[in-house]
Order: sequence, then C-alpha cells, then structure tokens
Amino acid sequence: MLTDRVLGAVDAAAAEIVAFTSALIEIPTVNPPGEHYADCARVIGEKLSACGFEVDYFPAEGSAEHTASHPRINVVGLRRGRADRPAVHLNGHYDVVPAGAGWTMDPFAGIVRDGRIYGRGACDMKAGIAAAVYAAEAIRRAGVELAGSIEISATPDEESGGFAGAAWLARQGRLSAARLDAVIIPEPLNVDRICIGHRGVYWFELTTHGRIGHGSMPFLGVSAIEHMAVILERMRRDLLPALASRTTAMPVVPDAARQATLNVNGISGGQPVDGLQTPCVADVCRAVFDRRFLLEEGFEATRAEIESLLEQVRRTTPALRYELRDLMVVHPVRTPDGSAVVSALDRAVRAILGRPAGHVASPGTYDHKHVDRIGGIKECVAYGPGILDVAHQPDEWCGVDDLINATKVLALAILELTGTAN
Ligand SMILES: [Zn+2]
Repeated sequence: MLTDRVLGAVDAAAAEIVAFTSALIEIPTVNPPGEHYADCARVIGEKLSACGFEVDYFPAEGSAEHTASHPRINVVGLRRGRADRPAVHLNGHYDVVPAGAGWTMDPFAGIVRDGRIYGRGACDMKAGIAAAVYAAEAIRRAGVELAGSIEISATPDEESGGFAGAAWLARQGRLSAARLDAVIIPEPLNVDRICIGHRGVYWFELTTHGRIGHGSMPFLGVSAIEHMAVILERMRRDLLPALASRTTAMPVVPDAARQATLNVNGISGGQPVDGLQTPCVADVCRAVFDRRFLLEEGFEATRAEIESLLEQVRRTTPALRYELRDLMVVHPVRTPDGSAVVSALDRAVRAILGRPAGHVASPGTYDHKHVDRIGGIKECVAYGPGILDVAHQPDEWCGVDDLINATKVLALAILELTGTAN
C-alpha cells in the first residue's frame, strides 16, 4: 500500500532526520539580534534542493529588521506534482530565543542522548523543520508522485513577531490563498495535538506626566509615579477580576490561559535608581503592558476598556495627565470548524498514534496570524513534534519518537491534502 511505503521510508530515514535536526541546532540562530540566519537558510535550502525542491531565497528587502550585519533571509522550496493544486505549504521558523542560564550542556551542540535531541531550538522549532522536509522526502523516496504540490518555507524572526519572515512572504504573495490551499506550521504543540489558533495581543505604553518639584516639599510638585500607582491599583481592583471572569470558547492551553490576561512588562519613572539621587518629584513615569484578549472580546472593546478605566481614574484624580500609545496589536485567529487541514491531521494522528488528536489553541501567538490575516489562508494550523512546555527552557529537547511520529503524521496529511491518497 502507498501509505505503508511512505511510512517505511520515514522509518528508514530516521537517523538522517535526527542528524538534520542536530545540524540545524548547531547553527546558533539567536534572536535577538538574528545571528547566522544566512547560514541556516542556506543549509535548509541545500537540503531542500537535495530533496528535489526548486529553491528560492528571499532576503526581506524593505523590512526594518533586514540589515547588512543581520540579514533576514527567507528560503522557500517548491515541488510540483502532477498539478500545481492542491498546494500544501509547511512553514517553520528557524530563529531561536537566547539560550539563557541553567543549561547542563552546550545548547548549540545538537547532542542526542537517551532518545532525545537537546539544544536551543530543538523543539521550537528545528525538529519541526526537519519533520516537514523529511515528510515530503519520504513521499519522494517511496516513489509516490503527488497529485498536487508541496511547498516548504523556513523563515526568520517568528520569536520577535515574524514581520521579516512569514509576514513578509505573505505580503509578497508567496504565502497567499491565491497559490496555496493549506498551511501547516510544525510548532511544538505536542505530537498528539492540533493547534487551531491563538488569543489576541495588545501591547500598549502608558505615560503619566507630573510636574517636577523639590523632593523635600513633594506637595508642591505632581508625582507621575503616584499617578501611575493609582492606575495600577485601579487595574488590580477592577480590571483583573473582570478579565478573569471572561473565558473563551477556544481550547486554549493551559486551562488558566483561557481567560483574558494582563501583564506589566516594565515600568520606569523619575530618576534612574542606579544613579546619584537628587531631591526631585518624578515628572514622568512610563509602563508597558501586555494584554492578551479573547476572540470573543475583540480589539476595539479591549482598547476601549483601557481608555475608559483611564478616564475613570482621571475623574477622581484631576491632576492626572497621561498618554496611551499602541505598540502592537495581534488579532486572534481561529481555524474554521470543518477545515480540511484539521480533519486530515485528525486522521493522520489517529493512524500513527492510535488515539484521537486533541484540539488546542496557543496561549501566545505564532505565525498563524500572518498566514490568516495577510495571506488570507483560513486552512492553517500548527502541528509538529516536541512538547510545548520545554520550549524556551534550559535543556530544551525533542524526543526522537515524537520527531519520527510527527514526520509520519505530516506525510499522511500531505498525501491527503494534495489529493494523492487518503
Ligand atoms: Zn516557535
């Protein structure tokens, strides 16, 4: 049977899949600032060429992040079957977050030990890129000609918003509904879970303005820090309980992240605390907030709620002067019910793992938003090897079993979504 041949080809390639994952981990594509991107794009491009793909490299011309010292390179491989459509696209980001402290081994050595591949980016998401490439390659090695086409891209900067990566490809029309029928992003959401979207993100900066005065007579000035404190207290008293009472119908994991949330990313006001101090009332205070909102809330209501809270504080604090500035807005996305990409992966997970797939939504955000909102592709999910909880942690790892199983699941999904076999 055709699918048995393909799955056999995945098993036969197991050592290569692990070795390719390790080779990618060994290129420290740390973001920020975006190290060794060109090297990593080239290694992935050469692998795609060796696997029969037509390969194009796209430097993210025109994006602010793309500089001479830190170029942003997108690499895309296309392999046509008997027809161009249906076209399935697998997109992975090759940037990784900094290693951080607490490692018990070299984070960029790609060490394989006791059935696990270790390193920064092992699960998030160099294993996912390897799984995508070898899912397509196993189909070729099994001698199966696709009825449609398969495309694989590796993009930078997902960890910092993806603007020079997946968003750039979407803006160029390369990741768009005009050319593609389904997109799978092999992010580490656990090998038996399909991720159907994420909550929204609203980052805003709040500045309070006071009036400088002598610190020995603070009543003659206006403290911007005290005014910020009043706002924070109002948020704690009124806003946080309201957010905690709202739950989305999306299956966000972990459970506690099914609610709307607010985090203060940072705050600074008055004099720098590590400098010499002079007796002054703080005339300015700034804070940056991270509000995660639900599909059911929407962005307009989310922003209006913040504005209304600030106006309420102003009514009881007449001297309050503030500015609210939007830093970033990511709208929530959700794969529509009944999507072909979800049912193909459902069937594939059941066939390979012998149990039904869970459907989850991400507590954070990932490149799905660009595929959906810029590329106009609704048939998009995340599915890939690796455990979500170890992403960005010290001693990050991906199980070899997971990697091979996810490769098989992706291969079956590609066969179905390209109309080759089901
Ligand atoms: Zn990721």
